[in-house]
Amino acid sequence: MTNCLFCKIVDGEIPSTKVYEDDDFLAFEDIHPKAPVHVLVIPKRHVPTLDDVGAGDVELLGRLMDRVRHVAKALDLAAGYRVVINVREEGGQEVFHLHVHILGGKRMPF
Ligand code: 5GP
Ligand code: ZN
Repeated sequence: MTNCLFCKIVDGEIPSTKVYEDDDFLAFEDIHPKAPVHVLVIPKRHVPTLDDVGAGDVELLGRLMDRVRHVAKALDLAAGYRVVINVREEGGQEVFHLHVHILGGKRMPF
């Protein structure tokens, strides 16, 4: 999608600090980290929100979460971490390209 920030990161138009990449997924450091470790994991395909994952795409969510734990392991978060998906305005979503936050490196308050 042309005007999507994270699609531009996928395309390399906007630089990012990548921590993982394969054909379908990308993980990169959040530009404004809310924890000592704050990484975003995204599908490369543009899906605006969690609610836009179609019934035929449920597999995408499974694979996305599999990448999340793979990335968390690579980031050495053996002590634990938090996974967050903000969904639309009241969920606090600011970038409308589905992404999973991985937060760690300290004990997370609720
Ligand atoms: P949301 O609020 O949509 O769940 O999270 C969007 C996240 O994207 C925020 O944590 C924000 O700091 C991050 N972000 C916004 N713009 C950029 C950017 O240009 N590069 C990177 N790496 N992260 C960004
Ligand atoms: Zn996008």
